[in-house]
Amino acid sequence: MRQKTTLSLVGALALLVSATASLAQTAVGADTRPHVEFLASDKLEGREAGSPGERLAADYLAAQLTRIGARPLPGRTDMFLPFEFTAGSRNGGSRLTIAGRTFAARIEVQALSFSDDAEVTGPVVFAGYGLVVPESQNFGYDSYATLDVKDKIVVVLRYFPEDADEKTRAILARYSDLRYKAMAARQRGARALLVVTGPRSPNAGQVVPMTFDTALAGSGIPAASISGAVADALFAAGKPLRETQQELDSGNPHVAGFELPGVTITLRTSVIRERHTARNVAAYLPATAPVPPPAKPWVVVGAHYDHLGRGDRGNSLASKEEAGGIHHGADDNASGTAAVVAIAETLAQSPQPRRRHLLISFWSAEEIGLVGSNAFTTKPLVPIDQIAAYFNFDMVGRMQNNRLVVQATGTSPAWARLLERANVAAGFDLVTQTDPYQPTDVTNFHQAGVASLAFFTGSHADYHKPSDTAEKINYEDLDRVVAMATTLVRAVADGDEPPPFTKVDQPTTRGSIAGVRVTTGTIPDYATEVKGLLLAGVVGGGPADQAGLMKGDVIIEIAGKTIANIYDYTYALELLRANQPVKVVYLRNGERRDTALTPAARR
Ligand SMILES: [Zn+2]
Ligand SMILES: [Zn+2]
Repeated sequence: MRQKTTLSLVGALALLVSATASLAQTAVGADTRPHVEFLASDKLEGREAGSPGERLAADYLAAQLTRIGARPLPGRTDMFLPFEFTAGSRNGGSRLTIAGRTFAARIEVQALSFSDDAEVTGPVVFAGYGLVVPESQNFGYDSYATLDVKDKIVVVLRYFPEDADEKTRAILARYSDLRYKAMAARQRGARALLVVTGPRSPNAGQVVPMTFDTALAGSGIPAASISGAVADALFAAGKPLRETQQELDSGNPHVAGFELPGVTITLRTSVIRERHTARNVAAYLPATAPVPPPAKPWVVVGAHYDHLGRGDRGNSLASKEEAGGIHHGADDNASGTAAVVAIAETLAQSPQPRRRHLLISFWSAEEIGLVGSNAFTTKPLVPIDQIAAYFNFDMVGRMQNNRLVVQATGTSPAWARLLERANVAAGFDLVTQTDPYQPTDVTNFHQAGVASLAFFTGSHADYHKPSDTAEKINYEDLDRVVAMATTLVRAVADGDEPPPFTKVDQPTTRGSIAGVRVTTGTIPDYATEVKGLLLAGVVGGGPADQAGLMKGDVIIEIAGKTIANIYDYTYALELLRANQPVKVVYLRNGERRDTALTPAARR
């Protein structure tokens, strides 16, 4: 035992010497602080995709690339890669006419953000909750089983049966997303879909807010939500909606929908999609070795540089008091952007010849759905199968306790060994996660078949809030991440064989966020492997805050369900109801405690 330890220590020392030598070179120019301070400054106003602040950031990054000697990508004359995206959708004057009476106010009828623009007239069928559970689930729930909705306008309830047992709710929640309901109606030949939030549900009688949606076009069917008052006009001749909902809420799949006899309506839907242009920024450092590059001659490093602006697109976690303020995004993701600049600069200055080209990329519109990196991987400027590896940096500036999370390690069997080697000099406590399905740009590269890694130092209480500011960054450790990653990038750039790619299957246990109707105001710490749900923080004034939970607490049980990980937690959330207190069991400093938490409705 001892002997073996000594041997590996010798090996480690040898590596340490070589790594330290390269570290000495990397110290030059690897200063991330000025980049973070500029990008996170008020002047850039939170770098929202398509905004003047985002344009300033892109100009700054192109200037940095020029300064370090990078060149525009082959076939380009500059470093900007513009792409179009949907910056938001608004109701453009939808209206509904029932028996000669027209409703047009926004609180009465409003297109869903994914609706087609159209005007349709037809008879009306009520289809319960409009839920269809695929046969593969062996559950047997189909709101359309006994209904003919062809060429008719379908009315459905939002969400899923309120009084069903937990198991039923857990299954139905997954198919209650309105896009999914619209698809089910469209596949059965419906002309349009109307959604009403039932009197027995959270947000009763209110129209569905137009959520931010990046869709370029409609989903193939006109779809709108109507208020409780409009629904009453629709159901005027028959049973009140409350009674109908009550019957359905038992979860009995055999309660059938019905046609509204004699009712013909005209629906006009209009969605205004605002198209904006954002810019990725990319350039490359050509290979410098005198021999032709090895197989897959490109290595890509990347980080998204956009953030939330003032947080008005619905992804801000700002408290009421902070709402509307500049979301500085120092950690998310000025830190990763600065890391990529520093890695590129270090490699540009290294006298050692490079065997592969280094493509340096800064993505925009990540925060609204990984849009920029997707634009690149769907129309790559270098052949995607010529990319040996992609390295992503998103939130790498708040390291605590020497802990570095490296995600997507399942994308190549080569990563374990390469990481171990690169970490010898750095000595981080590495937490590796095989899953590439992360909420960051690495997902797109994995989908495109590129062996990838994503670096992350963990979430925190300032995540997606205005208070994610430059002075809170741990620059010393950020620069250590840069040094370690530089060693790794260099190893791949100069290796004979590119890391073999492994496709990772999407985990099936993951709960779909679309079905979650309540919020608990918790901010999970994704970085730490603990049994339970470790909180990186709580949303100020939110349900968890009010329940007395705080950063560092580990939730191990909620509403009688044990929680082993984030997936269990998401799954448990689907079963909670707004305004109904549940017992939460948690650990604080190892001590078991409990509290009552009252979830709030999610809009
Ligand atoms: Zn990010
Ligand atoms: Zn973010």
